[in-house]
Amino acid sequence: DASRAPDYLAGLNPEQREAVESLDGPVLVLAGAGTGKTRVLTTRIAHILATGRAYPSQILAVTFTNKAAREMKERIALLVGGAVEGMPWLGTFHSIGVRLLRRHAELVGLSSDFTILDTDDVIRLIKQLIQAEGLDDKRWPARTFAGMIDNWKNKGLDPAQIPEGDARAFANGKGRELYVAYQNRLKTLNACDFGDLLLHPIRMFRANPDILKEYHEKFRYILVDEYQDTNTAQYMWLRLLAQRPKGVPQNVCCVGDDDQSIYGWRGAEVDNILRFEKDFPGAKVIKLERNYRSTEHILGAAGHLIAHNEGRLGKTLFTDRSDPDDDKVIVHAAWDSEEEARAVGEEIEQLQRNQHNLNDMAILVRASFQMREFEDRFVTLGLNYRVIGGPRFYERLEIRDAMAYFRLICQPADDLAFERIINTPKRGLGDTTVRTLHDYARAREVPMLAAAAEIIETDELKNKARKSLFDVVTDFRRWQSLLENTPHTELAEQVLDESGYTAMWQNDKSAEAPGRLENLKELIRSMEAFESMRGFLEHVSLVMDAEQNEDLDAVSIMTLHSAKGLEFETVFLPGWEEGLFPHQRALDEGGRAALEEERRLAYVGITRAKRRCHIWFVSNRRIHGLWQSTLPSRFLDELPPGHVDVAETEQSYGGYGRGGYGQSRFDNADPFSNTYSTPGWKRAQQHRSDATRDNWGTRSGHAVERIGYGESGPKGRTIDGE
Ligand code: ATP
Ligand code: MG
Repeated sequence: DASRAPDYLAGLNPEQREAVESLDGPVLVLAGAGTGKTRVLTTRIAHILATGRAYPSQILAVTFTNKAAREMKERIALLVGGAVEGMPWLGTFHSIGVRLLRRHAELVGLSSDFTILDTDDVIRLIKQLIQAEGLDDKRWPARTFAGMIDNWKNKGLDPAQIPEGDARAFANGKGRELYVAYQNRLKTLNACDFGDLLLHPIRMFRANPDILKEYHEKFRYILVDEYQDTNTAQYMWLRLLAQRPKGVPQNVCCVGDDDQSIYGWRGAEVDNILRFEKDFPGAKVIKLERNYRSTEHILGAAGHLIAHNEGRLGKTLFTDRSDPDDDKVIVHAAWDSEEEARAVGEEIEQLQRNQHNLNDMAILVRASFQMREFEDRFVTLGLNYRVIGGPRFYERLEIRDAMAYFRLICQPADDLAFERIINTPKRGLGDTTVRTLHDYARAREVPMLAAAAEIIETDELKNKARKSLFDVVTDFRRWQSLLENTPHTELAEQVLDESGYTAMWQNDKSAEAPGRLENLKELIRSMEAFESMRGFLEHVSLVMDAEQNEDLDAVSIMTLHSAKGLEFETVFLPGWEEGLFPHQRALDEGGRAALEEERRLAYVGITRAKRRCHIWFVSNRRIHGLWQSTLPSRFLDELPPGHVDVAETEQSYGGYGRGGYGQSRFDNADPFSNTYSTPGWKRAQQHRSDATRDNWGTRSGHAVERIGYGESGPKGRTIDGE
């Protein structure tokens, strides 16, 4: 029967089906979490192929991550039964940019074997340029300028287009000149940075209308997932490729959710989604309202929370998964992050005993430093876990650097550690010096640090390098002498400060730098549980040895930002406290926009859950080496009581988290004197029930409660020590 719909369309609801089958002209699918937007995109590609509308190579599909691209490829192959020749152009904006650029490199002054520079390369290069200008690179750090360039490129700005104020802000007004010099230098090196992967294709298309036209003819269908998080440069890129002569339909299909725009801090422009109908005239806007992912409690909680944001497009969401047995969203209180990790571990083991797979569980954190506690706990329990979207805590760049310092102090023959940090932060000890040192050490069969101590007595090195190396050797001698009698956490902190390592990240203006500083603080914190620096190093080598096997049944740990688009049966959301979530940086900014982005992140977090969502907050976090009481996140206040249960909190206060450590651990915190015996959140919840129903009214009700905490509360409650 020819009129029967093909299998891949059969399960779709009418709106989804319309989105799949509207192949002529622009389509925007604007819909909440879990409504099948990604599924629509995948099915649409299958449909285009199955109906012979285009060859795979005539389809361009953009996903937010490489992982999402891989999954989409697999799904398409399944839907069309693997019968298609070739594959669509399917990947992230960057990976598609590389592909375009390899083909046409010469048009932007590169050759097709160009290199893509990583951040370190970029910084080294900029530093040379700053010095070549005769500027002091301490006053004008290369990292700062690298961050500025990145921002400009996200906005699609060439040197001539950057705002006058920006140009003046750096290097005595030489910002623009430096940007020009940087681009020229890249060209000479036959290299480009990440931003150029987007900007070069844009430049190329603008300068070569004939080439652009070829691609207009080639890409019959363009599809974009997670459209709400495109930045200006990506948007320009997309509009160029989607241009068509009058009368020819623009077959662009973008799917997104304004409530899930969470990359504003990296230049994403949620306005792109709001402008779609204007920029793509005749666009069909399709709304999907049925959620296939989550229970009613989960949706209810998420929907009520996000309703506190203003300036939303506003969407309805419903699910018919209203099983009376469904758990509500459960809020748990814990004493501190250690107890939080312990209790989450117990929940997981409980689920495991009830035949749930670890693969169906995820822990989503606001800041990557939070992962450490969970990773340590899971290693102790022997629970498999994997970290998604980034390295495991102890594998992070900044953690490895810091650990290399500690290793070298404890183990002066550790040449790998030596080589890792000898010029990090930059001290003018470049490759040549390291090579000389290496040869010297080899010839005498001594470790490099020992060789360094000897070589500075000779004239093998240039004066400047010798002076620099002398400082390093002196530092390590001093630190080693402190090893036995200084508390190891104190020493660790001292090492990171005196070596200039902390300062290096403080001067870094990239979006990642504050997170790295947080991780370093967490590293020091994690050392407290050990007797000595050596004991700690040993522990880390054990953690690092734990398997990270793709096929293993394992709990996923990741940041909320990298959880976008994913789904799990059970989701754990730890750390819902003021200053952590919403993050202190958002609070410091003070504006509504930053807070609303945090709230969208909370919405993304809750909506990852299919069946169970557990939220945690702790009453105490160790910040700047001091126990500080924390306030439950305002977002807890914004959850609807009807969809939320509060877990029994007795365990939090019954000595459970304190066993084995003795009372002394809390001496300077005086845990029993504050008002936390009833969590503030719970009291706010009671308060709410007899106060106004109005959301903002409720918030101000809570604010009154907060003042009480504030007085006895933490000073300078920041997490990243700015
Ligand atoms: P997010 O906003 O989180 O990215 P989304 O809108 O992209 O969500 P999908 O991930 O595509 O949603 O779909 C959510 C879940 O619902 C998936 O497991 C998907 O397979 C399922 N789903 C979507 N549409 C249908 C349908 N018509 N019938 C059955 N299941 C569906
Ligand atoms: Mg999706």
